[in-house]
Amino acid sequence: MTSTLFTGGTVVDGTLAQPSVADVLVVDGRVEQVGPGLGVEADRVVDCTGQTVTPGLFDCHVHVMFEQPSMVRILQTPFSLPFFEAAGRLRRTLATGITWVRDAGGADLGVAEAVRRGLTPGPRMQIAINLISQTGGHGDDWQLCGAHVGLMPEHPGCPSAVVDGPVEMRKKVRELIRAGADVLKVATSGGVLSPRSNPLHGHLRDDEIDALVSEASAAGLHVMAHAQATDGIKAAVRGGIRSIEHGIYLDDEAIEMMLDRGTWLVPTLLAPRAVLAQADAGIPLPDAVVAKARMVSEAHDDSVRRAIEAGVKVAMGTDSGVGEHGTNLDELAIMRDLGMSEIEAWHATTRVAAELLGVEEDYGTLEPGKVGDVVVLDGAYDDLAGLGDRVRSVWLAGEPTPEREPVVT
Ligand SMILES: [Zn+2]
Repeated sequence: MTSTLFTGGTVVDGTLAQPSVADVLVVDGRVEQVGPGLGVEADRVVDCTGQTVTPGLFDCHVHVMFEQPSMVRILQTPFSLPFFEAAGRLRRTLATGITWVRDAGGADLGVAEAVRRGLTPGPRMQIAINLISQTGGHGDDWQLCGAHVGLMPEHPGCPSAVVDGPVEMRKKVRELIRAGADVLKVATSGGVLSPRSNPLHGHLRDDEIDALVSEASAAGLHVMAHAQATDGIKAAVRGGIRSIEHGIYLDDEAIEMMLDRGTWLVPTLLAPRAVLAQADAGIPLPDAVVAKARMVSEAHDDSVRRAIEAGVKVAMGTDSGVGEHGTNLDELAIMRDLGMSEIEAWHATTRVAAELLGVEEDYGTLEPGKVGDVVVLDGAYDDLAGLGDRVRSVWLAGEPTPEREPVVT
């Protein structure tokens, strides 16, 4: 039996409860007690005075197989190098307190298994493997020169996912499930990083989306939709897709539909900011990509602000990979700036996200019985500036992770 007592920190428990100073006792990997001045003995005591204690944090949209991609970099990257690079990115993600991620395309079963088997430290993972997309859609790697070059090169663990028509859709979903998908990802609109797709256009028709959702549901899996265009968002919600990723052009009707269906929004506010920062830093990006990033940026903030105000369920996601891995916690301050309270931003990064991933029975809050994934940060919970630099220790099931050495007495 191993027990760890986190004493005297301000506990943000993942619910919307007002944070207060309390102790957290984790025994054999599970939270046993949370409360002020527990006064119990434990094998390890972590003094969290003046610090904030949270459940393990979630990022519902990352891509560990790439990072700040440019066409020049993609063309010069040996095929297997990203598998090794992913290990470092997973470590950085875990070190910033993210203990659960959804990889929204790129990571295959081998990457997820390497983490699950403890070969490489990283957050717990759900993987989408590849992005299902129509011909000419956001996941179609066809370039203007006629070559196929993309963010996620096709290989046996990551089959191409371009489909047209419900029959091809059914087969592709089954193929991705066979390859190890924990969640299906689809592009119901164009996007920013693809060469020819338009973020203003809805992609795939209702019969194709219906085939996708029915096949995924039959396997007990959820679907996440890259959806930027208003049409594409509505088609996804209508089709019963669980989360809208990005949600750049949300009109009032789309917001109303999401509220009715209980659809989650994963805003990824860091992503367009990262693309524009890279362009400003002189990283060679295709002209069309930069123009699209500028076009969507303002509309995105406005849509997310209105969705938050209306009470749409928002789960934290960053699209890390588009920008730098390990900067995930910068998303919280942006969500706050667009209308969330600080406690709501933490809630979106814990309990709400755990529900989206369907793991809320075991994760997402610090309550007795939950898995002891714990993050300790310097400073106050309502100061969201520079959170990434304030992470002091990260624990998975009551054990410290190697990237941050906790002070234990
Ligand atoms: Zn993405």
